[in-house]
Amino acid sequence: MALIVQKYGGTSVGSLERIANVAEKVIAARAAGHDLIVVVSAMTGETDRLLGLAKGIDPQPNPRELDVLLSTGEQATIALLSMALEKRGCPARSYTGAQVRILTDSAFNKARIVDIDAQRLRADLACGRVLVVAGFQGVDDAGNITTLGRGGSDTTAVALAAALKADECQIYTDVDGVYTTDPRVVPDARRLDRITYEEMLEMASLGAKVLQIRSVEFASKYNVPLRVLSSFAEGQGTLISSEEDVMEQALISGIAFNRDEAKLTVLGVPDQPGVAYRILGPIADANIEVDMIVQNVAEDSTTDFTFTVHRDDYDKALRILRETANELGAREVTGDNKIVKISLVGVGMRSHAGIASTMFQTLAAEGINIRMISTSEIKISVVVDEKYLELGVRALHAAFHLDSKK
Ligand code: ADP
Ligand code: ASP
Ligand code: MG
Repeated sequence: MALIVQKYGGTSVGSLERIANVAEKVIAARAAGHDLIVVVSAMTGETDRLLGLAKGIDPQPNPRELDVLLSTGEQATIALLSMALEKRGCPARSYTGAQVRILTDSAFNKARIVDIDAQRLRADLACGRVLVVAGFQGVDDAGNITTLGRGGSDTTAVALAAALKADECQIYTDVDGVYTTDPRVVPDARRLDRITYEEMLEMASLGAKVLQIRSVEFASKYNVPLRVLSSFAEGQGTLISSEEDVMEQALISGIAFNRDEAKLTVLGVPDQPGVAYRILGPIADANIEVDMIVQNVAEDSTTDFTFTVHRDDYDKALRILRETANELGAREVTGDNKIVKISLVGVGMRSHAGIASTMFQTLAAEGINIRMISTSEIKISVVVDEKYLELGVRALHAAFHLDSKK
């Protein structure tokens, strides 16, 4: 008998019919002899609705109270699913994050799981119940309700699977696996049977929102076999596991993109030690995360410095940069918040030259100007104008033979 943690996302529990469908799936898995912990998200659109209400009161709502509000979405779903299971004769019990005691730090709206007290869950499992746990939420050691950031139910599921040493963590969603790129943008995208933790981590951190990054970090750290599957169709989905388990490695496993980017440039700064620190220090102090950074080779004794931030932080970053530029005697500050990042990901890149040149050639052939480039061992990212996102992703998908009709 295996212990399986299943997670159902917002669309999968988006109506009473769909909750009934989930109940049937859970009962079928139980009938196959498995112990089950089921993590659920808020019904589709609910977290956004609650966020809208909060912002109607204050554009920057009190973070503690925001978490109290947002956590109610998942609380509604656990009760509804447990009722649906009980009505079908399947013993079930719902738990909020705080009731399980999913202990987190106190970073409201983006808390990290620190510890899980699995005792109560184990006792309930031993009584033959299905446990239905609210995703996306926890409690800090002062007893405050916290949430784990958008998409956080994935992380709840994987963390529970790790804590209870589950045999598999299954993420049920509205696509039937992890694809070579977002199938909504490239209809010819191909489902991957397997992908390594490392590649999935890159895909997620570069914008593929099918799994929250932290869930993949957890899975990799505790070696939890993770599978992404459809709630609506049968199939094997995509297994995410360690490199040794993935026998045949593709050169490129996928293309990720991120629409939430903005870039800022300061031109003509004196090229001296400490300049990068003077520019980025105040940005970091304002809690703004910086992604790509490029500094030009100095001509005369000045240099240009460009970096990217999340689009939501653009205005704030621009204000800070203008002040710093004044202090440094820089020539000019420019910015652009209509840019996107497209990334190629693949462990096969380690051993193959020429991937970057194929990428640049493909974009050039489409007349797409590359604004920034950054590389690491298993990825290459480029920043391009927002209007080229779809064109760029589709062209690269075809150029690297990722299309399903090949
Ligand atoms: P859930 O509500 O179930 O958590 P999400 O919307 O968070 O679902 O994640 C599923 C979505 O992720 C898909 O509908 C798809 O549009 C998107 N997505 C982005 N990149 C990929 C990819 N490489 N493979 C599969 N889905 C992807
Ligand atoms: N309900 C939360 C969100 O919409 C968490 C999740 O669905 O994973 O982001
Ligand atoms: Mg999600």
